[in-house]
Amino acid sequence: MANEAVATAFVGVGSNLDGPERRVRLALDALDGLPRTRVVRHSRLYRTAPWGRSEQPDFVNAVAEVSTALAPRALLDALLALELAQGRLRDGTRWGPRTLDLDLVAYDAVRLVEPGLTVPHPRIAERAFVLLPLAEIAPDFDIPGVGRVRDLAAAVGEQGCRALD
Ligand code: ADP
Ligand code: MG
Repeated sequence: MANEAVATAFVGVGSNLDGPERRVRLALDALDGLPRTRVVRHSRLYRTAPWGRSEQPDFVNAVAEVSTALAPRALLDALLALELAQGRLRDGTRWGPRTLDLDLVAYDAVRLVEPGLTVPHPRIAERAFVLLPLAEIAPDFDIPGVGRVRDLAAAVGEQGCRALD
């Protein structure tokens, strides 16, 4: 990425189907392989028991800090392409449900609202499964227009979300 403008972005990774831990780890590796992008650090994996429908498997989540020369829209497109490539399971004769969720949580100090892309991600402030892993790697990051990560994480509480050993 020599001589390119580089931004710091945070990507949320989640799965709750078909080997979610493995899928999250594979996705973290795949992020590092995106063009003009590398993973600087990532959180531990976190597990959240689903409430309500207890027959659903646990959710596994992590957040990665990436250094990228991709613009926000190009990065989102790359994330959605990864979801498609890795996030489907073979269901007999057809492609089954999505098993991987990749969210562009924040991108430097950027705030933007476009069709199909809102940055920072509009639902961060209420999601422990994003804020707790994010607080592990970037507690002092000020999410533009939302607040400081450590304060947001403290306010939201655990919501049953725990780091795996
Ligand atoms: P959630 O955003 O709650 O994870 P989905 O993954 O189902 O829900 O939403 C996917 C859609 O949200 C994508 O098609 C994408 O265009 C749109 N979207 C808007 N802003 C973002 C963002 N910051 N990160 C990821 N997807 C986003
Ligand atoms: Mg998503």
